[in-house]
Amino acid sequence: MNNKQNRIKKVVIAGGGTAGWMTAAGLTKLLGKNLEVVLVESDDIGTVGVGEATIPTMHIFHRLLNIKESEVMAATNATFKLGIQFENWKTQGENYIHSFGFLGKDCWACGFQHFWVKGKQKGIASEIGDYCVEHLGARQGRFAVTPNQDLNHAYHMDASLYAKFLRRLAEQHGIKRIEGKISEVQQHMDGSISALLLESGELIEGDLFIDCTGFRALLIEQTLNTGFEDWSHWLPCDSAYAVQTKTTQEPVAYTRAIARDAGWQWKIPLQSRVGNGLVFCSKFMTDAEAKQRLIDNVEGEMLFEPRLIKFKTGTRRQHWNKNCVAIGLSSGFLEPLESTSIHLIQRSIIRLLQAFPSNGILAAEVAEFNRQTKIEMDNIRDFIILHYKATERTDTKFWRYCKDMDIPETLSHRMELFKQSGKVYKFAQELFGESSWLQVLIGQGLMPQQYHPIVDLMPDSELNDFLMSIKHNVKRTVSQYPTHHEFIQHYCKSSLV
Ligand SMILES: Cc1cc2nc3c(=O)[nH]c(=O)nc-3n(C[C@H](O)[C@H](O)[C@H](O)COP(=O)(O)OP(=O)(O)OC[C@H]3O[C@@H](n4cnc5c(N)ncnc54)[C@H](O)[C@@H]3O)c2cc1C
Repeated sequence: MNNKQNRIKKVVIAGGGTAGWMTAAGLTKLLGKNLEVVLVESDDIGTVGVGEATIPTMHIFHRLLNIKESEVMAATNATFKLGIQFENWKTQGENYIHSFGFLGKDCWACGFQHFWVKGKQKGIASEIGDYCVEHLGARQGRFAVTPNQDLNHAYHMDASLYAKFLRRLAEQHGIKRIEGKISEVQQHMDGSISALLLESGELIEGDLFIDCTGFRALLIEQTLNTGFEDWSHWLPCDSAYAVQTKTTQEPVAYTRAIARDAGWQWKIPLQSRVGNGLVFCSKFMTDAEAKQRLIDNVEGEMLFEPRLIKFKTGTRRQHWNKNCVAIGLSSGFLEPLESTSIHLIQRSIIRLLQAFPSNGILAAEVAEFNRQTKIEMDNIRDFIILHYKATERTDTKFWRYCKDMDIPETLSHRMELFKQSGKVYKFAQELFGESSWLQVLIGQGLMPQQYHPIVDLMPDSELNDFLMSIKHNVKRTVSQYPTHHEFIQHYCKSSLV
């Protein structure tokens, strides 16, 4: 395989949504000189048009591409995001925040939560978020990017403006964009893809094909029949209505995820508008009911009629198959509760760049790409399921289903470990760290039965001082920041406002 004949000289990206343009920008900027890159997209088909909340790993991608934060934010009408507020997930009326920050201070033997648990038992600790700068910053609406202490943050941004921003970048680096509908995917004798035939009759040949055609998965599934692992028994939501509204108030620095009768509603504040949507399970709520429920629960004038999107949660059995790599929705879908899809796109792009098959596709590289992608998706899947499983809600059929459902063994182990010992852990390549697991486990109402014995080496007065000093520092740090709104005005104001 590793000879001149098999060299990858031309890459064809099918699809121009967020996944297509991120891939295009990444490949042209980082490998462009040695490679011809072509992107095909169809304006008639359009993009999924959602996907506006991100997580901090976005910085890695932007750094690689030399994208300046204030520039991309102004161009995409973006606001800052310090975490997600989960409302009504544990019980109706109770809220918690999963922030991007680190909780308190760990010691060599155990995590901060062990000190906090004892503090709670003694009545000298307050809520866990008081020991985290990002958490308090989100609650108090304060934010800044400073040279000395960068808050762990992500963005809320306009998905279509982001695709346009990346398109400009990719075009500067030599991408060739072709507008047209793919009508046929042609294959070599060995089943690998040889060319895309457009409705116009144009034939686009290539060596490596990136499937960014969204849920259609035109290449990886419709052509290569790669197979799909269905996770909908664990994550039963299969539909969403999405709508944008005019802004009615200054944007908060967090995404809102509000649990509803048969799913949940998102509110994503941009500088000049709000992205809204209701994710729901069609077994427990009809499309018409969901649409009305969303309309009843948005603030501000709707900018268009709510749009219905149907999806299935799960993952492609291989993300790289023959000479086709699936990136974005074509590779699988985890519902947007923790805003992880764009992260997975950038992970796949970076992984592909690291394993780029310039001298021919190697079976071991393909296997490794698929193995790592699967591990990442499995871990995120478990983290999302936790929000549903660890509910105390029994008020609707949907929540009773979630509370009673079986869950992956990997997740039940984590939940049991935390309940019994207060321990959490992070695998080497896992996205969500200990602080993330803790905030959601505690936010959903799980409390450990015991804390690590090392905590008892600290007298109560010392424990009190320890907790107080962290809390005090967090409070002082946050009080020095301007408001989120003020900071945006000075740092990255959008021309749309
Ligand atoms: C309800 C919902 C909410 C979401 N929220 C978030 C979020 O908050 N955060 C997050 O990170 N992610 C979120 N996502 C995921 C995010 O929207 C996607 O990961 C992201 O938009 C990438 O989509 P894509 O580019 O893979 O597909 P698409 O946007 O669907 O793009 C597909 C492209 O393929 C082209 N195409 C398809 N068929 C053909 C054809 N025959 N010929 C030519 N071109 C073709 C289309 O024209 C289009 O350009 C959400 C997803 C859903 C469904």
